[in-house]
Amino acid sequence: MNAQIITIGEELLIGQTIDTNSAWIAEELNLLGIKVTKITSISDKKEQIIETLDINSNEANLVIITGGLGPTNDDITKHTLAEYFDSELVLNEEVLEDVKRIIGARGANMLELNINQAMVPDKCKVLRNPKGTAAGMWFEKGDCVIISLPGVPFEMKAILTQVGFPQIRQKFKTPFILHKSVHTTGIPESQLADILKDWEANLPEKVNLAYLPSPGDIKLRLDISGENEVELHEILDAEIEKLQHLIPDAIFGYDNDTIEAVVGKLLLINGLTISTAESCTGGRIANILTSISGSSRYYKGSVVAYSNEVKQEQLDVNASDLEKYGAVSEQVARQMAEGVLKKLKTDIGIATTGVAGPTGGSEDKPVGTIWIAVASKKQTFAIKKVFGNSRLRNIQNSSSFALNFLRKLLTENQL
Ligand code: ATP
Ligand code: MG
Repeated sequence: MNAQIITIGEELLIGQTIDTNSAWIAEELNLLGIKVTKITSISDKKEQIIETLDINSNEANLVIITGGLGPTNDDITKHTLAEYFDSELVLNEEVLEDVKRIIGARGANMLELNINQAMVPDKCKVLRNPKGTAAGMWFEKGDCVIISLPGVPFEMKAILTQVGFPQIRQKFKTPFILHKSVHTTGIPESQLADILKDWEANLPEKVNLAYLPSPGDIKLRLDISGENEVELHEILDAEIEKLQHLIPDAIFGYDNDTIEAVVGKLLLINGLTISTAESCTGGRIANILTSISGSSRYYKGSVVAYSNEVKQEQLDVNASDLEKYGAVSEQVARQMAEGVLKKLKTDIGIATTGVAGPTGGSEDKPVGTIWIAVASKKQTFAIKKVFGNSRLRNIQNSSSFALNFLRKLLTENQL
């Protein structure tokens, strides 16, 4: 079972619009167990659409097309498809209803152009559009299903999610698919791949692994398909347990977890409040923590202590220690965490100080060096980490790493 994707639009070819539709569709199809073998972007020229469709429908069981369905005359996909499938355009009452509802909701009057949107090829099955006026169309040619969808990303997604994918699953009798994700932070992707290479090589044949990196979070997604759901759960759970032994400290959550949500939950459970003292992360940790609704129950505030003066005056960092050890040091990180805890009267203080780069590194403190400290009323913990050369990534990675350090201390009841 394989699929191909065609995205239509001049704007894709001149680089004005990035083809995010293909990426989204490909990811979703993969999750359904359907392999995508080709993605093509083409201009909205009739000959090119027909030529590409001819090739793709011979090579794949499913072809998904997006773009060029709008009401204007320059959108020619629908007319081309009607001709290709030897179809007449006929008025579809359901689509007309949808168009009227959408136009009505926008407070606009129905135009001739809008009525045209309810005209669909008589040889297609309509995939109704809950979010817009251009309906999706499902054609069949021999063994191949061809689906045409509007280019507007949120409309395309709504059609596929609500009616497209369920019908694709039914038509192609796709097996049961299970996905589980493990979120990690603090180990760069190449190192992680190295640590996990034996585990990966010994994964059961049915299990697929994907590394999905985003700032401060490398997600390991495990997929498996088959008939017996319980058995699939057991197989993936066993592999995840092995991961927990291999990288115990790097794993901060599963599936839809985020580090800020996991930390927030732990703080709430333990009835603890927290404040932040950030130098190199410039407030990013505060920003991440407060992205969680209800975070005011545990998060109190921040001192963005970028300069030495602010570190001294607002956080009581010792001037002679700043002089002696430098701002990027264990001593200063510890004093920042302890200082903010006292100043903002919280149970925990978390601090970062580092060389974000790309300039400002030295031999003993290269770019990417960061000290993180977490203080409670009982004790202060500090850890050093050296990241890479990219300023933005250093800030992102050290923020996630700091929150993961806090998570680890909280789960071990050290604070
Ligand atoms: P409309 O009714 O809006 O005209 P349409 O089906 O004709 O819908 P297009 O005209 O091709 O779609 O594109 C509509 C919008 O969707 C444009 O803003 C375009 O940039 C965006 N778009 C089109 N194709 C893609 C794509 N492959 N990835 C991301 N955005 C896209
Ligand atoms: Mg258009």
